[in-house]
Amino acid sequence: MIARYGRAGPEGLVIAPRRRSFMWREIGRYVPMALAHTRWLIGDGQSIDVLADPWVDALPFRLWPTTISVEAGAGLRVSDLLRPGEAVWDGDRLGQLFGEHLAERVRAIPLPGFAGPDVRVWSTTCRASVGIGEVSRVLQLGLQPGLDCGWVWRFGLHQRVALFLWKVAWERLPTCSVLSRRGMSLSPLCLECGVAESVDHVLFHCVRARGVWSMTEILEDTWSGRVIFLEVVRQWAGVPQMRRLAIRASCTAYQIWLARNARVFGERRLSQRFVMERAYAQADEIIQVESAHRPLIARDTWGSHIASAAPHRVFFTWEPPPPSFLKVNFDGSVLDGGRRGGAGFIVRGPGSDVLAAGGHQIFDISVPGAELRAAWMGLSYVRRVLHASSILLEGDSATVISWIRRGLSSHGGAHPLLRDIWMMARVGVTLQARHVYREANGAADWVAAYVACHSGGTLWAGEREMPGALRDLLYSDSIGCIRTRYV
Ligand SMILES: [Zn+2]
Repeated sequence: MIARYGRAGPEGLVIAPRRRSFMWREIGRYVPMALAHTRWLIGDGQSIDVLADPWVDALPFRLWPTTISVEAGAGLRVSDLLRPGEAVWDGDRLGQLFGEHLAERVRAIPLPGFAGPDVRVWSTTCRASVGIGEVSRVLQLGLQPGLDCGWVWRFGLHQRVALFLWKVAWERLPTCSVLSRRGMSLSPLCLECGVAESVDHVLFHCVRARGVWSMTEILEDTWSGRVIFLEVVRQWAGVPQMRRLAIRASCTAYQIWLARNARVFGERRLSQRFVMERAYAQADEIIQVESAHRPLIARDTWGSHIASAAPHRVFFTWEPPPPSFLKVNFDGSVLDGGRRGGAGFIVRGPGSDVLAAGGHQIFDISVPGAELRAAWMGLSYVRRVLHASSILLEGDSATVISWIRRGLSSHGGAHPLLRDIWMMARVGVTLQARHVYREANGAADWVAAYVACHSGGTLWAGEREMPGALRDLLYSDSIGCIRTRYV
């Protein structure tokens, strides 16, 4: 068959330009779907490419652009992540390549004591062979009209959330029951409810999930189960007035999943209110950013429901403010699930000269809360200490930026800090608030992380007082260093 018709390529294309029979083309159509349900079982790790092959999850890492550094991982084999000559993960190496949660997941993958060859297996079992029944179940699932999930990539979600939703649609989240079936030493049961942890359970039936959903404005019918949820979100996504709600619902499900990961792997418990607030903040950012930065949205980089995106890069630099303006970059940092955090700011002039930087450690706060506090501190400093009247406020929280822009007239019951910000901007003051990506806000991010770990308040009035690491960041901003974002 292969000699006559050609081999199924790694991307699932059946390569045989001429003389393709109808039957062979028809079979080829399902190769990507079937391949998407295989993964690698590690032997000696030498034939598995860290980025290109599915070995942690049925999706290869190159399709998870935000979780791993593509440059650092290029060309690596799984065997490079093991200690030389031993069947043990190299903890330092994992730490360099992956974030905390991902490294934890990799560490939980069992390694054989002997170094045999790697084997490609069906995703739900540990066997290299696969029964017709298993394949046909996968194909039928993909063919059900209700589960055509191409829309997930088209409705303008941020890529990370779209990828998550796509996995929900295909029931491909690594829940405890999936992981324990694959031989990980984990209980298959939900930590809270003691029943088998399926995708439906984690996101919709679990007491923790229901607690979060019930704090949202979304009606209970919508979140009663996976299939209904996807169907409703799909319908909302197609109606302009309902898109906002579709994005909120998607982000809520995503944050419920992240909070569950933190419980299972990180031993952290986030409050349900915190999860809900974080979901709404994330949704606001997506809605805000969507119109301004089209290229960063999933629909432009993901073509169809078979994930086939090549990550691409977007470049940013920090820009000095216009003449006679002072620029305040602010950022909030939240640690320990909101129990502790920091609010930091930096003030720079048109010549990139640094006038001040500082902030304060804070407690029991949400992400938007910390960001708002940081904006307020920065603005108070330039108004009350430097008496500036032309101010450009810049932060990576689209939520807080949109609150500030809304202005005094709109909200009677606004947050006191927000009202104070509006008051400071009232008479004879020009205040512009602008959203930038995190990559262009690195120095303020550094300050926020610094003050989060130092008790009380910190203020450096002038560059000479500042720590070396911060001065380096400020210097690279001032010479227009380019920051890269993979999307
Ligand atoms: Zn549960």
